[in-house]
Amino acid sequence: MSETEPTTSEATSARDGADAATPSRRPGRERGRDDGKFGPYGGQYVPEALMPAIEELTDAYRRYVLGNEDGFMDEFRERLADFGGRPTPLQRADRLSERYDREVYLKREDLLHGGAHKLNNALGQVLLAKYMGKERIVAETGAGQHGTATAMAAAHLDIPCEIYMGERDINRQRPNVFRMKLNGAEVNPVTAGRGTLKEAISETMRDWATTVENTHYVIGSIVGPHPFPVMVRDFQAVISEEAREQSIEKAGELPTDVVACAGGGSNTMGTFAGFVDDEAVALHAVEAGGSTLEVDEEAGVAPNSASLYTGEEGVLHGARTKLLQDSDGQIMESHSISSGLDYAGVGPELAYLVDEGRVSPVAVDDDAALEGFHRLSSTEGIIPALETAHAFGFLEEHHEELGDRVVVNVSGRGDKDLDAAIEETDKRDIDEAPDMSMFTGGI
Ligand SMILES: *Cc1c(COP(=O)(O)O)cnc(C)c1O
Repeated sequence: MSETEPTTSEATSARDGADAATPSRRPGRERGRDDGKFGPYGGQYVPEALMPAIEELTDAYRRYVLGNEDGFMDEFRERLADFGGRPTPLQRADRLSERYDREVYLKREDLLHGGAHKLNNALGQVLLAKYMGKERIVAETGAGQHGTATAMAAAHLDIPCEIYMGERDINRQRPNVFRMKLNGAEVNPVTAGRGTLKEAISETMRDWATTVENTHYVIGSIVGPHPFPVMVRDFQAVISEEAREQSIEKAGELPTDVVACAGGGSNTMGTFAGFVDDEAVALHAVEAGGSTLEVDEEAGVAPNSASLYTGEEGVLHGARTKLLQDSDGQIMESHSISSGLDYAGVGPELAYLVDEGRVSPVAVDDDAALEGFHRLSSTEGIIPALETAHAFGFLEEHHEELGDRVVVNVSGRGDKDLDAAIEETDKRDIDEAPDMSMFTGGI
C-alpha cells in the first residue's frame, strides 16, 4: 500500500544508521503488500463464499496496519510491551560462542508472554478484529500453541473466542486444551478426517464463511490467502526490527548470518524481514528433516516437514506455495519430532525467497534437533522448544560455513515439550543428555 507509506527512495540506497532505525521503509519489508503475490506464489485461492471476508480484511489491513488509522499500530506496540513483555533481549551466548569460535547471539522470543513468538501475531490480529468491530474470534490449532496464544489475547482484549482442534490432537495435548479453557475460550473438537490440524483449518474456514459479519479468523502463521501472509509477517517483523537495532548496539554492526526454524514460517519471516534488503546478511531457514528426507509415495507419507527443501509447487489453504505432495498432487502426511513444524506447506514468501536464492533452506533431522535441545539446555541454561532446537542442530552441523556474527531466533521455550523430550531422549544415546538412571527403568 505504497500511497500510505513514506517514499522508499532513501531506503533503496542507504545502509547507514538512519536506515537501521526505519526498517519499515525498506522495500523488502513491503514485498507482497499490494496483491499478496510473491513471484508464482501466494494469491487468494478461496471459495466464493469467503471472498467478502477476505476483501473486508484486506481493507482493514491497509487502513489499520499499513495506515495506522486510529493509532492502531501505536496501541499494538504498547500492548506488546505491557502485556507481552517486549522488547525481548538479544543475548550473547557465551559458551556457544566459544564452542563455535564465532559470536553467537540469541533473540529471546522464548521470553515473550506465553513462551513463544506466537503472541506477536495473535495479539495483532485480535486487536485488529476489535478495530474492525468484530465480536467473536475463531482460530485453528494443531498442537495447541497458536490456540493458547489466541485465547490469551482474546481474554486480554475481552472478546469471545472459539478454537477448532482435531479430536486426536485434543487428546494428545491436554495441558494446552486446559490453558485455552482457563483463558475462557471454547474448544470445538473436529472429528473429520484424521482429526488433526489440516481438518481444523478447513472447519475454521467453514465457520468464518458463514459468520464473517461479526467474526474474525486468526490464522496462525504466514500461510493462507492474501492478506494473511503479509499481515502475519508485518506483526512478527517486530522480532527483526528489534534484533537489527540490538545487533548494531551490541556488536557494532549487522550480523553475518541470521538463523530461524521454519514450520509455516512466521517466526522465520519475522526474524528475516528486517534483514532481507541487507544482501550481506545470510538468511538460513531450518526445516524439520524428520527421520529421513526419503519419501514413501505409496504410503502417501513424507517422514519430514521439509517443504522448502523438498516440496513442489501447489495450492493449499488458499495460497500457491511449496508443498509436500506426491506425483498426483495429493498432499502427503508430514512428520517431525516437533508438532509446531509438522505441516505439509510453508509460507509463500519464504518459498519465493528460496527460489530467488535469498534464503537458504536447510533440513535438520529429529536426532540432530534433540541433540540441539540438550546442548542449549546444558550449555546456556535455556531449555528451547523442540521447534527451536532445530536451529541449534543446524548450528552444530554448519557453523564452519557461517560468518563471524550469528543471530539465532529462540522461537520458544521447551516447557511444553518436556514429556516428548523425555520419551525421545530415552530412545537415543545423546552425550549432553542428563543421566536419569536414578529412576528405575530409565526415564
Ligand atoms: C509454532 C511454533 C513454530 C513454528 O511456527 P512458524 O510459523 O514456522 O514460526 C516454531 N517455534 C515455536 C516455539 C512454535 O511454537
